[in-house]
Amino acid sequence: MKIPYNKPYLTGLETKNIRKAIKAGKISGNGQFTALCHDFFKTKYGFQNVLLTTSCTHALEMAAILIDIQPGDEVIMPSYTFVSTANAFILRGAKIVFADSSEFHPNMAAESLESLITEKTRAIVPVHYAGMACDMDEIMRIANKHYLFVIEDAAQAIDSFYKGKPLGSFGQLSAFSFHETKNINAGEGGMLVINDDQFKKRAEIIWEKGTNRAEFFRGEVNKYGWVDIGSSWLPSEITAAFLYAQLNCLEKIQAKRVQNWNLYFSLLKDLEEKYDLKLPRVPEHATNNGHIFYLILGSLDDRTRLITKLRENGILAVFHYLSLHDSVYFKDKHDGRKLPWSDYYSDCLVRLPLYYELSSREIRKICSLIREFFEKK
Ligand SMILES: *Cc1c(COP(=O)(O)O)cnc(C)c1O
Repeated sequence: MKIPYNKPYLTGLETKNIRKAIKAGKISGNGQFTALCHDFFKTKYGFQNVLLTTSCTHALEMAAILIDIQPGDEVIMPSYTFVSTANAFILRGAKIVFADSSEFHPNMAAESLESLITEKTRAIVPVHYAGMACDMDEIMRIANKHYLFVIEDAAQAIDSFYKGKPLGSFGQLSAFSFHETKNINAGEGGMLVINDDQFKKRAEIIWEKGTNRAEFFRGEVNKYGWVDIGSSWLPSEITAAFLYAQLNCLEKIQAKRVQNWNLYFSLLKDLEEKYDLKLPRVPEHATNNGHIFYLILGSLDDRTRLITKLRENGILAVFHYLSLHDSVYFKDKHDGRKLPWSDYYSDCLVRLPLYYELSSREIRKICSLIREFFEKK
């Protein structure tokens, strides 16, 4: 039996939609499927304005430009995150100030943020790890008090909520990912959510290479030209057609992923009491969108041995981020603060296979191997 860590799910409607896009004769960006995807997100989650992007990385880069990050500006974000969260701001010359994770969750500890704010701080970038919400009440309170922008890295957070409000709707700007490792995928793809109207017009311009082309095509101006900086951050209609097929199956995909997540949880729950092992904890007021099922082992050594045991049985379990403050690129730039909880998740967290087509039989098999691992220890 071979079980990969991830297997991108295909709904079967993707090729049909792509054929339609080709037949319509328009396959560059911002066409009918892009509009359909935009409408989907506005209707389903109440987002005011959205723009599909070529990736979440690019949506974050757009956000950094939109809030006008200048060299020397400081941006606070967790060290336990993907490199794109930081790169987007580094590319504008920002100084990254890394926050530690919480003791109870890989998400950054909201109570640690206020001590990191200086006169140069411009923004806070919460990352909703495993699609589970950061403490958004506290983060928004701190940001508002200090006049800071909040940019949500909601790459993993599709269809997840905090106090009933969708993730991605809290910050002035938010970024989602449709990379093939995410719940809803388009191979590569992303989306910028614009919750603050002051950014609406400029976002569209930056998205279209610094031109007012989108306005022109709506007939709002009679010629278009170069009006700002920008890049080519809009995906082709082929990507949008693919994504739209996935969006039409969002509820089905989400239900199955959450069901798989819950089965893991119920099968492993009792081990937590007997052994040095922690199961994921859904933070207060947050929902679980079935993006990642992880375990936290007692040590790096334990984790390595569990990963090895599973691999010997054809099962691919994987660790996740290495603390960015301690990375080859950043180490010399870090201010020297210890971030023990970030290092803890770097060393001890392991992600188990989780995807739509994973069967309950496979989950039972994985769980019995994990049980055996602890019982024999
Ligand atoms: C996947 C991911 C990204 C990057 O998404 P892409 O669409 O691949 O650019 C950024 N941040 C986090 C937290 C992610 O999980």
